[in-house]
Amino acid sequence: MNISRRIAVPGLVRIKKNALSRLGIYLTRGEHTQVAMVVSAGLPETIRATVNTGLAQEGVATVQWFEIDKNDFETVAEFFAHMPNTLHAVVGLGGGKALDMAKYLAFLAQKPYYAVPTSLSNDGFCSPMASLTIQGRRRSLAAALPHGVVIDVDVCLNAPRILWLSGVGDLVSKFSAVFDWKLAFHHKGELVEDLAALLSDASVYQFLANPAFTPQGLTQLGTALMLNGIAMEICGSSRPASGSEHLISHALDEISTRPRLHGLQVGMATYITCRLQGQQADTIDQVFQSTGFWDAVRTDPFSREEWLAAVALAPSIKENFFTVLSTRQCLSEVHAILEEPVLDGCFV
Ligand SMILES: [Zn+2]
Repeated sequence: MNISRRIAVPGLVRIKKNALSRLGIYLTRGEHTQVAMVVSAGLPETIRATVNTGLAQEGVATVQWFEIDKNDFETVAEFFAHMPNTLHAVVGLGGGKALDMAKYLAFLAQKPYYAVPTSLSNDGFCSPMASLTIQGRRRSLAAALPHGVVIDVDVCLNAPRILWLSGVGDLVSKFSAVFDWKLAFHHKGELVEDLAALLSDASVYQFLANPAFTPQGLTQLGTALMLNGIAMEICGSSRPASGSEHLISHALDEISTRPRLHGLQVGMATYITCRLQGQQADTIDQVFQSTGFWDAVRTDPFSREEWLAAVALAPSIKENFFTVLSTRQCLSEVHAILEEPVLDGCFV
């Protein structure tokens, strides 16, 4: 079978040192000299200054500057209503909320979008979806991949290490997601797009060769997370990046009194779902030991009670979405997994 389809992928990708100071150069090359900046509130002054100086040097005008502390549809619609049509591009700078708002604003306005994450805590910076709330409920809305991805390696290495660990958790979840996708094929006949599945798997292996908090390790994590977003765009679904482990994390977001970073929840859930799937759990354990992921969880353990409730709720989170959690009643197995020595101290 040959699926003929055109997809728009990022034409500009810079994952390197000092990339932030060169943002103006990249925008000018794309002839995008009138931009809207959508920026995380509370972003360090040094980052703002670096960007502003770089833009000014290249004659890029910041026509609008939005500070973001929430990611809701209502606010982004308001931004869109006041957007001048002389604008060339939208730039998202900072964390996940600002990037989701920028991505969706660009999508509404049909303008090129530049993703400039200042940490790598999940794969959202280059996914074709925007996570926003509508009337208080979290929704994943269809959007488009960025026109450009600019990741300053030094800036991301200066971000809190827990954010990097969250990115590692979101990345390894692809093992569980791709396995679930294949289960859905065997049980329900849901078509697996081989190239998207392969790209997703391969991106994880590439990172596992060097899972270090170093410039090289960070470059590989950024590349791998970006390729996951492209895998989603190739097949037009979130299947290559999201399976049972994401359902558990979404369930936690709904019921937990204190939801944690997306990638921390997803990473822990991935270990559990890989154990249920009977594959890759040892690999996940090794990478979590070597990166310090388990240690980070132990410093602020999850609630056992909330996790068991989340596992029970997870299969109902998304309709017609077959995963390992659909194959059998898994709750008693998960109960036993949480007591295993590997997870000692991770739950209270
Ligand atoms: Zn994720």
